[in-house]
Amino acid sequence: MFKDERIWKLLQELIEKRKEELKPKFDPTCENLYRYPEAEEILGKPPLTTVYLIEDLARLGYLKKIFKEKLFLCPLCNSDELKYETYCPKCHSAYILKMKALEHICGYLGKLETYQDGKNLRCPKCLQELQIIDEDYKFHPAYYQCQNCEEYFKEPKELWRCLKCGASIEKENLKEIYLFSYQLKEEEIGLLKLKALPKDKIIAFLKSQGYEIEEGVKINGRSGAEHEIDILAIKRSGPLEHRIVVGFATADDEVPAEEVIKLYAKAYDVNAADIIMVALPKLSADALHFAKHYRIRVFEKEDLEKLEKALLEK
Ligand SMILES: [Zn+2]
Ligand SMILES: [Zn+2]
Ligand SMILES: [Zn+2]
Repeated sequence: MFKDERIWKLLQELIEKRKEELKPKFDPTCENLYRYPEAEEILGKPPLTTVYLIEDLARLGYLKKIFKEKLFLCPLCNSDELKYETYCPKCHSAYILKMKALEHICGYLGKLETYQDGKNLRCPKCLQELQIIDEDYKFHPAYYQCQNCEEYFKEPKELWRCLKCGASIEKENLKEIYLFSYQLKEEEIGLLKLKALPKDKIIAFLKSQGYEIEEGVKINGRSGAEHEIDILAIKRSGPLEHRIVVGFATADDEVPAEEVIKLYAKAYDVNAADIIMVALPKLSADALHFAKHYRIRVFEKEDLEKLEKALLEK
């Protein structure tokens, strides 16, 4: 499935839940502005290549993309250290006070306190008593007055100051980036477990026994039919060649007999001297019967010892 063993390693980390997810990290120094440091370490690849690999795994349906956060950045230097500032829209002073304000029908607008007249509210300009909210007067819970030019306004001018390069940035010019984490797709875990976990161990073991390994190969059998072999292990000594075909099968509870028969037919057709079947979680009773009959070494569960023993008996 994947040629590069390091990709398997990455998936394995996720399968075995040593990592719940691949977390993004904001990094203004890299091209994409974000990276996946843990994945980089496992894959041994630079940040951008790692991002592409992860995106490929998501496109292929193994990983799911989960929105993590949105960052606002300075459009000039990509820093995320931004300070929110507000200014008077008229004179541009930053010295503006937030307050509760009333707006009378006569047009006067001022701080709530300027209307207070004992228990009542009275307009300080026209001196009429205020009657009914939203009829003869309006209440503004947040209003501003510039302490420099005394202008009242509802919305101050907003700016973001970049603490790194000092730029003043208007809201619409802020750069936005979205960060995603990646998790293994639940529905793929079964299949990947099967492919990733024992596969590594089996390959390592076969290699240690002097076999050359080919994975996911398509070869033509004696019958002329083309077969896809999960793992083909070959050891050559002089004119002799010892071939092992390793097949993987999975099921919710028991791997059925057909899988064993299919693997045997394939292995026989490509001249395998030995057949190993990795059946997860296990073979059915029928399937086991066939496996014994065909002298197929069966590997159930993640039990390398059993496999090693089986191979060593040869
Ligand atoms: Zn002002
Ligand atoms: Zn008034
Ligand atoms: Zn900046």
